[in-house]
Amino acid sequence: MPELPEVETTRRGIKSYLVGNKIKYSIVRNRRLRFPVAIEILNINNELILNIKRRAKYLLFELKYGWIIIHLGMSGNLQILTKKQLALKHDHIDLVLADGKILRYTDPRRFGFWLWANNLHNHPLMIHLGPEPLSNNFNVEYLCQRAKNKKTAIKPWLMDNKIVVGLGNIYTNEILLASKILPTRIVKSLNKKEITNLVIQIKYILNSAIEYGGTTLKNFLQFDGKPGFFNQKLLIYGKKNEHCTICNQKITLIKQRNRSTYFCYNCQK
Ligand SMILES: [Zn+2]
Repeated sequence: MPELPEVETTRRGIKSYLVGNKIKYSIVRNRRLRFPVAIEILNINNELILNIKRRAKYLLFELKYGWIIIHLGMSGNLQILTKKQLALKHDHIDLVLADGKILRYTDPRRFGFWLWANNLHNHPLMIHLGPEPLSNNFNVEYLCQRAKNKKTAIKPWLMDNKIVVGLGNIYTNEILLASKILPTRIVKSLNKKEITNLVIQIKYILNSAIEYGGTTLKNFLQFDGKPGFFNQKLLIYGKKNEHCTICNQKITLIKQRNRSTYFCYNCQK
């Protein structure tokens, strides 16, 4: 499913086509996404797009009187079409732009959503979110503070949006290998050196994934229809029955809170 790098890749790709452009109208072929598409989006008419931002895995379209909040769910993607293309079965929404281009939303599993907010301040989706991992607010001091006395395992803890946003299953597996930390380690057992390394690896891996256009496992496509290329850089995620590329030991697979956890007993402590 799209994680932070895929959402950020999408944002950077679509931004230059959208900011300063106007949404002439929308075509909503299927309102039934995870939540029904907001009525304000159905009725949109000649709205100037002021900015495209991202918070956690939400894409935020800033308009004059409000915000469109888009979540790509499990299988959503946004593409810029420069000419008319026949809509296929899973192409649920088009935003028709003043210059003739189209922003098309495709989502086979329909776990994504398109909501409207008059303002984002105190919005229920935003209010409990932790810091952005690539921001300066997310640093060693912050993570040490939050880790104090925490008895949960490190992997599900890092995937908790209240601690830090946007760390999904794929990248958390990779980050813990790069940090040489076992996913089952109790958070409070991590020392400052380990937390420092963890913070560095979180930023490094997310930034590299963004540079490669994200990871495409099934449905994710960049705004221009290309897949992401970070798959080739994955060292542990999805490597069941394979051997560690660093030490050649067999990779272990367990479930943590129902999510697949891959790790190397030799490289991670
Ligand atoms: Zn290893």
